[in-house]
Amino acid sequence: MEAIFGHTKLILELGDLTRHRAGAIVNAANSSLMGGGGVDGAIHRVGGHAILKECKAIISQIGRLAPGKAVITTGGNLPAENVIHTVGPVWHGDPRQAARILASAYRESLMLADKMAIKTIAFPSISTGAYGYPVQAAAETAVAEVKKYLLQETYLERVTFVLFSREDLKTYAEVLEKVTETDGDFTVKY
Ligand code: ADP
Repeated sequence: MEAIFGHTKLILELGDLTRHRAGAIVNAANSSLMGGGGVDGAIHRVGGHAILKECKAIISQIGRLAPGKAVITTGGNLPAENVIHTVGPVWHGDPRQAARILASAYRESLMLADKMAIKTIAFPSISTGAYGYPVQAAAETAVAEVKKYLLQETYLERVTFVLFSREDLKTYAEVLEKVTETDGDFTVKY
């Protein structure tokens, strides 16, 4: 499914982010930037040591990456040129605070891509794996924040959510459908 916001395409697809070709893919990292499980582990495994080396250099400068912030490294051996590492919120009881941090993770990633003149970016479903954020709530925040960003001035031409299960894809598609219906944006389904 895809929609257009401003001049930018927003695409939802089922797949493996480590196989996605783009100017940048976004890593749902943790504050240490030392890799981990889930999509983070997969990105480091496929991307190779160059990514970890740059992450270590960043951490030696900043100590840790706070939730809601984003930094960029090379894509190493990935098909993506760069990896934007961001940290989502751990889900534990304060939904409004979690939503604020999740929105910030998306926004900071998009801003960093724009700053680097990157035109295509792909996200996983940040925080909905090990960090336990309910997918429906996360999809609502993710889609709303990306939409808000794309309706401002941006160089981005394509933003993709690469969802790892059919169920997640369905949830994101329903959320996107609702957003485009209520606002009358141009939507194409396939
Ligand atoms: P977090 O710690 O932010 O919750 P996880 O990596 O545990 O991050 O999970 C985030 C989402 O990424 C989950 O929906 C998980 O299924 C998904 N995921 C895991 N591996 C991949 C992959 N290779 N490509 C895309 N999504 C992935």
